[in-house]
Amino acid sequence: MIYFDNAASTPVHEKVIEEMNPYFKEQYGNPSSIHKYGRLASSAIQNARKRIASLINAEINEILITSGGTESNNTALYGIGHRNKDKHIITSSIEHDAILEPCKRLEKEGFQITYLPVDKYGLVNPEDVEREISSDTCLVSIMFANNEVGTIQPIREIGKITQEKKIVFHTDAVQAIGKIPIDVKELGIDLLSVSSHKINGPKGVGALYIRKDVKIDPLILGGGQENGLRSGTENVASIVGFGTACQLAKDSMMENQEYFRKLSMKLVTEVLKEVPYTKLNGHPEKRIPNNIHFTFFGVNGEDLIIKLDENNIAASTGSACSVKVQKASHVLRAMGFSHEQITGSLRLTMGITNTEEEVNETVQVLKKIVKELRAISPYKEKYNF
Ligand SMILES: *Cc1c(COP(=O)(O)O)cnc(C)c1O
Repeated sequence: MIYFDNAASTPVHEKVIEEMNPYFKEQYGNPSSIHKYGRLASSAIQNARKRIASLINAEINEILITSGGTESNNTALYGIGHRNKDKHIITSSIEHDAILEPCKRLEKEGFQITYLPVDKYGLVNPEDVEREISSDTCLVSIMFANNEVGTIQPIREIGKITQEKKIVFHTDAVQAIGKIPIDVKELGIDLLSVSSHKINGPKGVGALYIRKDVKIDPLILGGGQENGLRSGTENVASIVGFGTACQLAKDSMMENQEYFRKLSMKLVTEVLKEVPYTKLNGHPEKRIPNNIHFTFFGVNGEDLIIKLDENNIAASTGSACSVKVQKASHVLRAMGFSHEQITGSLRLTMGITNTEEEVNETVQVLKKIVKELRAISPYKEKYNF
C-alpha cells in the first residue's frame, strides 16, 4: 500500500510508541494521586507539555491539553465567546468543520459571525480582517494552513492587526505545526489549536495554546484538572506520545521540509507533464510542503480515489469529513472553483514514510487511470480527450 493521505492522519512513530508503552502497564497512576504513581504520571505530563510548548515557542503553563484539534477549536470559540459580552466573531469561509460547526451553534445563540472570503489561491486578505473588526468583535479565528489545498494564511499580518485592535486571535494550526516553523509570540497569536495524530502521534490528543493573559471559560467541568480548564483524568500515555511527536517534529522539521518539497516537486512536475488538462490548486508557494492538490478536468475525484485504492494507493478528494457525506468542498467553492473543477479534485499529502519510488509509481498509476476515466467521461467531447 502507498499512503498519500497524511493530512487525514499519520502513522505513529516508533519512538512515540516506545515512550508511550510504560504508561499502560507500569506507570498507570492517576496524575492527581499523591503517591509515587501519581507523581510519576503527573511529571510525565509536564514533560510532554514542555515539548508541546517548545514546538511553538510557548510557555509550559500556556498549554491546555485536549482530546485533539476539534476540541481545541471548540474550546477556543466557546471559551472566548461565552466569556464575552461582545458577540461578534470573524472567521474565514475555508475553515475546518471543527470551526464552522461551533460557529453555526454560536449563531443560534445570538452571535454574529463574519465569514471572510478568500481569493482563488485560498488566501484571506488581512485588510478584510481589519475592516470587519467592530466594537462588538470578541474573536478573530483564521486557520494557519488549509487542510484541503494547503494554503498558508498571512498569519503575521493578521496578528499585527488583532494586536493593534486588542482583539483575541485564534488560529487552527493543525495542518501547519511540525511542517513549518511557528512562533506564537513573534506572530501575535493568542490561541492556537494543534493535534497529535497529524504529526505522527497517537489519535485523540491535542492542545490549545492560550497566551498567559487570555482568559477562557472551560468547556468541560469536573475535578478541575488542567487548571480547571478541562476536567477529566488525563490521557497520560497519549499525552506522553504527543510530547514525543512534537519533539521529533521539531528536531527534524528542516530535514522533513526539504524531503517533502523534493517529493512534491517531483510528483507535481511529473503529473503535470504526463497528464494533460491537469491543474495544481492552492497557492504555488504559500503552501505547506507536504500538500498537493490537483484538478483533473473531466474526471470525477471520487472515481479517482476508488481506482487509486484498487491500485493500492490511498488518497483523498479533500477533508476526510466532506468525502463521507459526499458534498462539494466548501473550500473549493469559496475559492471560486466551477462545479467541474471541484468534481475533478484530488489531494495527495506526503508523510515521513513516503519514498521517491512511491511517487514514481503514483505518477504512472494516475496517468493510466485518468486516461481510463476520461475515455468514459461526459466531458470527452469538450476536451477531445
Ligand atoms: C484534522 C483537523 C482538525 C481536527 O483535528 P482532530 O484532532 O482530528 O480532532 C481540525 N482542523 C484541521 C485544519 C484539521 O486538519
